[in-house]
Amino acid sequence: HSSNLQGYAPICLGLEDFYIRRLYLRIQDCFGRPISSSPGAWFDVVERYSNDNNKTLKRTTKVTRCLNLGSYNYLGFAAADEYCTPRVIETLKRFSPSTCSPRVDGGTTILHNELEVCVANFVGKPAAIVFGMGYVTNSAILPVLIGKGGLIISDSLNHNSIVNGARGSGATVRVFQHNTPSHLEEVLRQQIAEGQPRTHRPWKKIIVIVEGIYSMEGELCKLPEIVAVCKKYKAYVYLDEAHSIGAVGKTGRGVCELLGVDTADVDIMMGTFTKSFGSCGGYIAGSKELIQYLKYNCPAHLYATSISPPAAQQIISSIKVILGEDGSSRGAQKLARIRENSNFFRSELQKMGFEVLGDNDSPVMPIMLYNPAKIPAFSRECLKQNVAVVTVAFPATPLLLARARICISASHTKEDLLKALEVISQVGDLVGIKYFPAESDKQ
Ligand code: PMP
Repeated sequence: HSSNLQGYAPICLGLEDFYIRRLYLRIQDCFGRPISSSPGAWFDVVERYSNDNNKTLKRTTKVTRCLNLGSYNYLGFAAADEYCTPRVIETLKRFSPSTCSPRVDGGTTILHNELEVCVANFVGKPAAIVFGMGYVTNSAILPVLIGKGGLIISDSLNHNSIVNGARGSGATVRVFQHNTPSHLEEVLRQQIAEGQPRTHRPWKKIIVIVEGIYSMEGELCKLPEIVAVCKKYKAYVYLDEAHSIGAVGKTGRGVCELLGVDTADVDIMMGTFTKSFGSCGGYIAGSKELIQYLKYNCPAHLYATSISPPAAQQIISSIKVILGEDGSSRGAQKLARIRENSNFFRSELQKMGFEVLGDNDSPVMPIMLYNPAKIPAFSRECLKQNVAVVTVAFPATPLLLARARICISASHTKEDLLKALEVISQVGDLVGIKYFPAESDKQ
C-alpha cells in the first residue's frame, strides 16, 4: 500500500510515513514487551504503546497486570515457591550470583557437583554435565560429538540451537520430514547406500536429532518408532527435552516415561532448565564415558563461566519438589495439574473452532493465525483484555504459518483458564481465525 503512494509526493509523503510508522509500531508492539515482575501465572507487562481509537499508537509506559499465557513456566516454579525460593536466597548470600570462573578453574562449587548427580538420576542416565545456557548446550555440544566424516540427520523442525550446532560441527547434515519415522528410515537407507563402494559403513558416526515436544508445534516426538529405526541402522539418538522434561510423564521424567521408551535406548539426552524448573541453563546426560569425554573436550565447559549457583540451587530444589523429596505431595499435584490444564484448554479451544496444533498432554498449544497480518491484531486485542500471548512468525515459522503459541502452566487456576478462553474466543471472532465450525454449531 505504502509503495503505491510513491509518485504522489509531496502530498502523500506525510501519509506514507504515517502508515509505515504505524505498521512498524504495531509489529514492534507484539515483540519484546518488557515485564516488570516474575513470570508467574499473572505478570506485569509494560505497555509501550497505547491504542488511540486505532488511529495512532501513542507511546506510554503503562504497567498492566496480565494473565501469562506465554512463559514456559510449566510447573509454576518460575514465581516464588515456598520450598525453592528460601533456598535460592540462602545460596545467593553464600555463593553470590556468579562463580566468576569456568568449571575447571574455580567454577565448580559443591552445588554444581550435586546438580549433575541430581539431573543424571532424574533423567535416568549414569552421568550428566550442565551448562549455563540451554541454547549453548546444543550449539556447543554437537561440534564436540561429531565432525567431518560424520552424518547428522535432523528433524526438519528442530530448534535453531540444534541447527547452528549441526552446521558448526562440520558433519554432513541431512533433514528428515518432521516427526516422520518412515522418512527418517528412507534418508538413512539412502545415505548408507550412497557410500557403499568406499567402505561397508560410509560414515564415521550417525546421529539422529529429535525433540521431545516440538516448541513451535506442541507435538510429542514419535520416539518409540524413531528409536526402532535408529537401532536398525545403528545410529545414535540425540533427544532434546527442553519442553518435555519435568512437564510430561507420570513423575515428570519426560517423553521416555510418557511413551514407554527405555532411557538406555536414547544415547544423548539433552534438556534445559529454563522451562519446568524455572531456572536457566541446560544439560547433557548419557554414559559415564560420554560425559567424561565432554568434560575434557567441550570448550563451553572449559572456557565459559559455570552456571550461576542460585540457578543451580533452583534446579536442585525444584527437582526435589517434583520427586516429593521436600516431604510434600506438591510435585505430584503440579504434574497432575499441568496435564489436566493442558488437556482441558486444548479441547475447549478445539470445540470453539480454532485450529490448534499439537498432541494431548503437551502444554504447548499453537493457535494458527496463518496470515502474519493477524499477529498485531490478535496480540493487541488480547492484551487489551489483560491476556498476554506470544505470537510467532517468520523466520521462526514459515511465512504464512504465523501462530499464537500458548503455554499452559500448572499454576493456572480454572478461573484463569476460563478467562483466557473467553478472551481468546472473542478475539478469535474479531480477527477471523476460527477455521472450523464450533462444536455448539454442529447439530
Ligand atoms: N532447545 C529447544 C527445543 C528450545 O525450544 C530452546 C528454547 N526454547 C532451547 C533448546 C534453548 O534453551 P534456552 O532457552 O534454555 O537457552
